[in-house]
Amino acid sequence: MPPATRSSPRFFRFLSPRGRDAAWWIMFGGSLAMPVMLGLLGSQLYLSRQDTLAHAAENAHNLALLLDHDLSRNLEAYRTSLDILVRGFGEPSVMALPEPVRRQVLFGPAIHPKHVNGALILDREGRVVLDSKQRLPPGTSFEDREYFQLQRTASDPDAHIIGRPFVSQRSGRPVISMSRRLEGPDGAFAGVAVMGIDIAYFEELLSGVRLGAHGMASIRRTDGTLVMRYPALADVVGRSMRGTPSDQRIGQSKEGSFRATSTLDGIERMYVYRQVAGSDFVVVVAPAIDDILRPWMQRALFAGGAMALFGLGTLALALMLSRELRARARAERELRELATTDALTGVLNRRALNQALNQAWPRVQRAGTDLSLLFVDIDYFKSYNDTFGHQAGDAVLSTVARVIRQSIHRPDDQVARYGGEEFLVLLPETSPEGALLIAESLRNAVRALDIAHSGSPHRQITVSVGVATHRSSTSQRFPDADALIQAADNALYHAKGAGRNTTRVYQSAR
Ligand code: GH3
Ligand code: MG
Ligand code: MG
Repeated sequence: MPPATRSSPRFFRFLSPRGRDAAWWIMFGGSLAMPVMLGLLGSQLYLSRQDTLAHAAENAHNLALLLDHDLSRNLEAYRTSLDILVRGFGEPSVMALPEPVRRQVLFGPAIHPKHVNGALILDREGRVVLDSKQRLPPGTSFEDREYFQLQRTASDPDAHIIGRPFVSQRSGRPVISMSRRLEGPDGAFAGVAVMGIDIAYFEELLSGVRLGAHGMASIRRTDGTLVMRYPALADVVGRSMRGTPSDQRIGQSKEGSFRATSTLDGIERMYVYRQVAGSDFVVVVAPAIDDILRPWMQRALFAGGAMALFGLGTLALALMLSRELRARARAERELRELATTDALTGVLNRRALNQALNQAWPRVQRAGTDLSLLFVDIDYFKSYNDTFGHQAGDAVLSTVARVIRQSIHRPDDQVARYGGEEFLVLLPETSPEGALLIAESLRNAVRALDIAHSGSPHRQITVSVGVATHRSSTSQRFPDADALIQAADNALYHAKGAGRNTTRVYQSAR
C-alpha cells in the first residue's frame, strides 16, 4: 500500500502541477497578464490625469494672481487721481487759477491715467460744478445716479466707492464710476467728485490672458455683477450672476477653486477666483475642462489602443502556443500508445507485456505475493482462417480480445496479444485458484459467443487456457518472468492435449 498522501485543499488544487500541463499554464499566464497590464495602465492614466488637472489649476492660480496685481495697481492710480481732483477743488489758490490752467491742474493727462473717461464735481443737489470734458450744459443734474445717492448718505469722506457698470450719458460707452464724498468745513455733505473708468480697461486686461479655445476670464463684483467677461458675450456687462452655482461658490471665501458648468454657455470649467484686496472686485480665471484634458485624452487613447492591440496579440500568441502544445502532447500520447498496443485488437503488444512483467517481477519478489499468468490460445484457428478467410479471422481475434478484457476487473490486471492467436493475461496478487476462476470464466465467455466453426470438433470458436502462478512463499517459485511464461505455455500444451476448449494449471515435476 502506498503511504497515504495528505490531499491539498480544493482551492489550491488548481495550482497542482500534476494536473496542469504547459499549455494550461501559458493560457493562465496570458490571461492573467492582461488585467495586470490594464490595471497598471489605468493607474498611470489616472495619475497623469490628476497631474494635468493640478497643473492647470496652478496655472490658473498664477494668472488670477497677475490679474489681481494689475487691477490693484490701477485702482490705486485711479484713487490717487480722484484724490488730487478733490484736493485741488478744495484749494482756493488752484480754483483761483485762470480756467485753462486750472483745467490742466485738475484734469490734465499727468494726473488722469489711461482709460479715465472723464471726471465731474457735483454740488450737494447733484448739479455739475466742474466737468473735465466741458460738454454738459451748466446745471445738468446727476442727482439720480446711484453713486450720488450712496455718497450723500455715506459717513466716510475718504472712502472711494466703485459703482456698478452703466452706459455713460456723455460717451455712450460702458463705464464704472469711482466717487468720493465732498464735505464742508462743518462735515456736512457738500457734493461728490466722480470719475468714469472705461470698461475697455478691463477688456484689455482680460484679453491678454491665454486660456485655450473655450477658456473664460472675468471680473465680477462681490455682489455678483459681471463687470467684464472675456471672450465677451452680448449684454454681459452689468449682468447679475447672483444665485448661479459659480456665484455661490465664489462668495464663500477670498480665494479658491471649483468645477462648475457655466449658465451662460453650458461649458464645464475649472473656476479659480481671487478677491482683489481693498476692493469689491473678484477676478475669475476659468479654463475649460475639455481643453485641459484634450492632450491627456489623446495620450490615453493612444496608450489604451496600443495596449489593447498588444494584449490581444499576446493572448492570440498564447492561444496559438497552447494549441500547438496540446496537439503535440496528443500526438506524443498517440505515439506512445501505438508503441505499446496491438493495432488489430487494442490490447497490449508483446513488447509492452514483457516490460510490464519485468517491472512487476522484483516487486513480487520483495513483497512475497502471488503472480499468475494465463496463456490463452484459440483452438483450430488455422482451419478457421482457411474456411472463412483472413478477414473473418481478424474479426474473431478482435472479439476474443474484447471478451478476455471484459473478464478481468482489477486495475493492475493486463491483457496482451503475445502473437498470432495467442494472448497472455497478467494477474498480480492472484492465487492459482483465483487465476483458474478467471481462466474458466473467460473460456466460457468465448464459448458463449457461439461463433460457428465447422472445422472444430466443438463446432464453434473455443479457447484453451494454460495457468501458471509464481508463489514466492512456497516451493512453486520461478527464477524469472520467462520461466513463468514457459510454465503457462506448458499448461496450455496440456490443455490442448486434453482435447482443447479446456483449462490446465501448471504442475511442477516432482
Ligand atoms: P491449435 O488448436 O493447436 O491452436 O491449432 P491452430 O490452428 O489454432 O494453431 P496453429 O499454430 O497451427 O495456427 C495458428 C493460426 O493462426 C495460423 C494463422 O492462420 C492464424 N493467425 C495467426 N495470426 C493471425 C492474424 O493476425 N490474423 C488471422 N486472421 N489469423 C492469424
Ligand atoms: Mg497457437
Ligand atoms: Mg491455436
